[in-house]
Amino acid sequence: MVRISTAKPLLVWVLAWGTAAACAVPLAAETRAAPSRPGATTHFTGAENVSAAAFGARFGLKAETSETGKILVLKNAWHTVQLESDTRECTVDGQRVFLGEAVRTRRGELQLNRIDAERLLAPILSPGTGEECVPGLKIIALDPGHGGKDAGKSNERYGINEKTLTLDTALRLKKLLEAAGHQVVLTRPDDRQLAPDKVTDLQCRAEIANRAHADLFISLHYNSVAVRPETVTGVEVFTMTPQSQFSTGDNGRDDGQVKLANPGNASDHWNTLLGYFLHRQMLRDLQVSDRGLKRARWAVLRLVECPAILIESGYLSNDAEARKIATPAYRQKIAEAIADGIAAYANALEGVRRQRAAVKR
Ligand SMILES: [Zn+2]
Repeated sequence: MVRISTAKPLLVWVLAWGTAAACAVPLAAETRAAPSRPGATTHFTGAENVSAAAFGARFGLKAETSETGKILVLKNAWHTVQLESDTRECTVDGQRVFLGEAVRTRRGELQLNRIDAERLLAPILSPGTGEECVPGLKIIALDPGHGGKDAGKSNERYGINEKTLTLDTALRLKKLLEAAGHQVVLTRPDDRQLAPDKVTDLQCRAEIANRAHADLFISLHYNSVAVRPETVTGVEVFTMTPQSQFSTGDNGRDDGQVKLANPGNASDHWNTLLGYFLHRQMLRDLQVSDRGLKRARWAVLRLVECPAILIESGYLSNDAEARKIATPAYRQKIAEAIADGIAAYANALEGVRRQRAAVKR
C-alpha cells in the first residue's frame, strides 16, 4: 500500500471501470472535512488519559493487576482485555491489538489514552455506544489492491504477484457475498490501473465506493518484508487512524495528518468493530500468525465515507506462505474467512438494532 500526502487539492479526470465516460473527480482530499454525524464529533486532545480500571468498570469488566503492577487484565463474561504498562500493544480476547499510545502507570494505576479507550476498546466492548446511527450493510465495495503497471508485491520463486492474487481473492469473495444477499461493487474488475499515477489511482478507488454509496469498503492486499522474510507470516488488518493519534507504524512521528479529520474518521467506531471481527475470523479460519489489528492512514481508508478496512492476508516474501497463497484452494479459504468476518460484523450490527428496538418498545 502507498500512503499519500498530497499537499494540494487535485482536480483530475479519471476513467472509472464500467463507465463509458470519464469520471470527473474533484479530489480535494486533504481539505474535505469528515461528514458531520452524531457520535463522531467529539474531539480529544492526544494527551488525555483515563484510568483503565474505571474505564473497564463502565462496561462491567473486573480489573485484576499483576503482582508487578505492570499488567492489568479487564474481564467480563464476554471479553478479556490485557493491558501492559509502557507498550502500545495489548490483547483483546487473545488477539493482538495496537493502541495509538502506550499504556502508562500514573499514581499507581494503569492509564489509557482516552481516544484508545473510546475509539478502539469501547466499540468492541459495547458496539454502538455513543453512536446515533447504525450503518447498513447492503452494498459492499471490494478493492483488489494494485493493478496494471503496479504489480504490488511478488514472489519470484512461485511466479506470483499481488495484483493478480488480490483480484482473484476479490472475485471469489464477490461470489460469496452476492450469495449472502449483498450487492458488490469492485473498484477494478480486471488487471488495470484507475489512473496513470498512484495518488489518483487510490483516490479513485475510494471515489468509486463513495459514488456507489457503499456501506462497507474492504481493500485486499498481500504483504512482503525485506528483513528476515523466513520469520514473518500471517494476517494483519488495518483500520483508519483516529484524528489526533499516531498510526501504528509511526511510533510518535507525525505523518502530517495527525490533526486532520478525514472522511474515514466519521466511521471510527464502526471501523474498529469491523476490524475486530474480520481479524478474529481470519485468525480462526486460517490458523495463521497474528500480526495484529493496526491503524494507518492509508489513502483509501482516509477517503471512504463508510466503515472500511485494509487486509494484508499473508506474506509473499515468505516462501512457505507464498506457496499456500499460490493455490486457488487457499485463496478460497481466505475469501471465505473474510465473508465469515463480514457476517459476524453484520450480526453485531443487527444486535445493536435489536437492542435499540427493544428499548423503544
Ligand atoms: Zn498492497
